[in-house]
Amino acid sequence: MDKFDVTVIGSGPGGYVAAIRCAQLGFKTAIIERYNTLGGTCLNVGCIPSKALLDSSEHYYAASKSFETHGIELQGLKVNFPQMIARKADVVDQNTKGIEYLMKKNNISVFNGHGSFIDPHNINIKSKEGDKQIKTAMSIIATGSKPADLPFAKIDKDRIISSTEALSLKEQPKSMIVVGGGVIGVELGSVYARLGTEVTIVEYLDSLIPTMDSDMGKELGRSMKKMGVKVLTSHKVTNVSSDGKQVTLKAKDKRDNDVELTADYCLVAIGRKPYTENLGLENVGITVDERGRIPVNNKLETDVPVIYAIGDVIKGAMLAHKAEEEGVFVAETMAGQRPHIDYNLIPGVVYTWPEVASVGQTEEQLKEAGIAYKKGSFQMRALGRARASMDIEGVVKVLASEETDEILGVHMIGARAADMIAEAVVAMEYRASAEDIARMSHAHPTYTEAFKEACLAATADRSIHS
Ligand code: FAD
Ligand code: NAD
Repeated sequence: MDKFDVTVIGSGPGGYVAAIRCAQLGFKTAIIERYNTLGGTCLNVGCIPSKALLDSSEHYYAASKSFETHGIELQGLKVNFPQMIARKADVVDQNTKGIEYLMKKNNISVFNGHGSFIDPHNINIKSKEGDKQIKTAMSIIATGSKPADLPFAKIDKDRIISSTEALSLKEQPKSMIVVGGGVIGVELGSVYARLGTEVTIVEYLDSLIPTMDSDMGKELGRSMKKMGVKVLTSHKVTNVSSDGKQVTLKAKDKRDNDVELTADYCLVAIGRKPYTENLGLENVGITVDERGRIPVNNKLETDVPVIYAIGDVIKGAMLAHKAEEEGVFVAETMAGQRPHIDYNLIPGVVYTWPEVASVGQTEEQLKEAGIAYKKGSFQMRALGRARASMDIEGVVKVLASEETDEILGVHMIGARAADMIAEAVVAMEYRASAEDIARMSHAHPTYTEAFKEACLAATADRSIHS
């Protein structure tokens, strides 16, 4: 029987990164994946395909809305939807093959099949070829998550769909209802709205992306409405049904009035739930918490000392880069090192256009914690770079300690915010003050000047360009 030092179950960004780091540290490592391709949700049906479609639809939208002003004239512009989906599939393929290559390069044994614990040191792998057992000294559970649905809005994968189906539709819908104005709702809602689908987002809370700093949701709401998306916040969905051709959604608005909507498709994007089905947790004595997550201590060890868990299947933000950091953390912990993760400094990014990005504390969190803070904001429209590219929507907001000027939170919405947030992460990792950033030279003309200007604004209100 094959014997390993470490076996990783699940090959998403948590699992494959953990496996590589384990191999680098000298562990004989195996990885088990139930799907045909490696890379998990993120590479197959998450981050990568959604960004591929976001990029394609962004090109189309720019070509149809702003090329003429730039002095570029096009004739016969139209969407070739099957080609867009085919390009997305090709991007996914390149990425998943890349993970296969990395597994080979690092001498990691890959097993295709469904892994389940027989006991803490024996794992069964069920595949089309039958069952196979392997022995392992230690394990890492990285089985990720699945879309959640509602008892009154069951995903039928035909007309009532999750993000997985929304990334591979055969036809471009004329109309789509999106339940949930969180990250998936606004990203995939943007994809379809840009292509000309009539999109309505129905959100339970009072703004889009409600877990982020509230100014971001307000700005994004304005921007989505400008694009033609109908946004219904403070709506309680009561039922979603399909007749196989159309969907009907029933909801109550905040005044308790009945609302009824119909569309070609309904995308249910109300969050994701941890995936631990048939993992044999009962055979090792691990019990999931009330939200289905595997409980871990601060070393990411489960109740069984030789079994660790990372990524979407445990507590915390369901983000690929959070899962990756945890993968490295666990591998190094197993090797006797003392790694560190600062969860406060894991950035969150929404890949709409303008993009939204944030790190650290929101204004609401600082208020709730009673922390005295200063605020500096800078509007993107005041930047020369933004005017040159016609990407003038958005704002950068810096929150700094009233007492020490240390940066406590950075929230931005604007062009290239997804990449700009990295500067804020570095600044906060090194505990920079707003004045530190305000005194650093930022290349002109760039979008990054907005961060410097917001820091100047937070430091005794001395922004130069506003
Ligand atoms: P997963 O990626 O879910 O991987 C788990 C793997 O384990 C799967 O391949 C599964 O098949 C396998 N598995 C499960 N059980 C078993 C078993 N018993 N045996 C064998 N294999 C098993 N995050 C970002 O940071 N940025 C983004 O832009 C982003 N975009 C997203 C867009 C969409 C549409 C979605 C749905 C998610 C997105 N996410 C994004 C979230 C991101 O995909 C997840 O946070 C990330 O994939 C979690 O990684 P993971 O390794 O924990 O699990
Ligand atoms: P989410 O938690 O981001 O948003 C779900 C939204 O649905 C929330 O705004 C919530 O208030 C709303 N909601 C819940 N129940 C509802 C109901 N009955 N009616 C109407 N609205 C309801 O979840 P998601 O958008 O499904 O994404 C799932 C996970 O995937 C997230 O945790 C996210 O971190 C991750 N993801 C990340 C990215 C990224 O990093 N760019 C992109 C996509 C997904």
